[in-house]
Amino acid sequence: MLCLGIESTAHTFAAAVVNEKGKILSDVRDSYTTKTGGIIPTEAAMHHKNVHLNVIKKALEDSKVNPNNIKLISYSHGPGLGPCLQVGLEAVKDFFSSLKAEVIGVNHCLAHLTSGLLFTKAQDPVFIFTSGANTQIIAFEDRKYRIFGETLDIGLGNALDKFGRVIGLGFPSGPLIENLAKTGKYIPLPYSVKGMDLTFSGIVTAAINLFKKGAKKEDLCFSIQETFFSMLTEVVERAMAHTEKKEALLIGGVAANRRLCEMLGIMCRERKARFFSVPLQYAGDNAVMIAWEGLRAYAAGKSSKEQLSIKPYERVDEVVI
Ligand code: ATP
Repeated sequence: MLCLGIESTAHTFAAAVVNEKGKILSDVRDSYTTKTGGIIPTEAAMHHKNVHLNVIKKALEDSKVNPNNIKLISYSHGPGLGPCLQVGLEAVKDFFSSLKAEVIGVNHCLAHLTSGLLFTKAQDPVFIFTSGANTQIIAFEDRKYRIFGETLDIGLGNALDKFGRVIGLGFPSGPLIENLAKTGKYIPLPYSVKGMDLTFSGIVTAAINLFKKGAKKEDLCFSIQETFFSMLTEVVERAMAHTEKKEALLIGGVAANRRLCEMLGIMCRERKARFFSVPLQYAGDNAVMIAWEGLRAYAAGKSSKEQLSIKPYERVDEVVI
């Protein structure tokens, strides 16, 4: 079976064709970026509106399949930015009528998790899902992906982007902060783990205050990374101890960060567990994962008869597997 996946939750509009064995036949993405400042939802939605037809057309062309052979369309129905999700839904409705395929809405976070299993050899890991908007430590137990710890304010990626915006970096700032951090030295910052949960906003404010007082960008980039990543590693280690799982799998855009992978890798080695990280190419938002989750849901009997809608606030632990 062939599935056309469509992703539009935040900055990226993407389309991909994948078959039921997980073979990727096409993978096309177009992302909204800014030189300075963060993501503005209505602007990102406008970007998606402008590019969606070309992205879908190219995904179909690259796949070299007859569009009539596409029997399933899956789209991310949430969580995400309302205006961006709406563009994805409208695109699906257009193609739904022309292709006469079944349509399934999938949870974007769940797609990150299940595609992480497709792309790595992990089988039953503690997932560290850390993207722009999300930071959650998740594991599968009793028919649900349960959240063992999470951010109480903003996601780790957004925290990096927020700090980057103030020190004059563009969006996304994560990779630029990683680069600047290479020559930085440690300056103490607050450390904020609350039970199994994390908060990042106060640390961003503390780093910004130090920047205003003249601290070097490089030192602040190094210190904010060390602090955020240590906090995350601490909570992941505790989730692994609690669930007795022997694998950790890092997914989401921040998985591109080498220092975070290094820290989690050391922690796993020390407790004789295996550490996996989703390949860089699939760490951020993409439509391959949406197509794959659509195929899995369809194979598991999920009906495509449900009313097509967007669910901007749907949490992964609300989805019954
Ligand atoms: P979500 O998936 O939660 O809707 P999103 O769409 O913004 O959020 P992704 O595309 O998965 O998330 O990831 C983007 C985030 O990853 C941005 O915040 C970006 O700064 C961060 N990021 C990307 N590369 C790196 C890196 N090398 N180091 C740290 N952060 C990074």
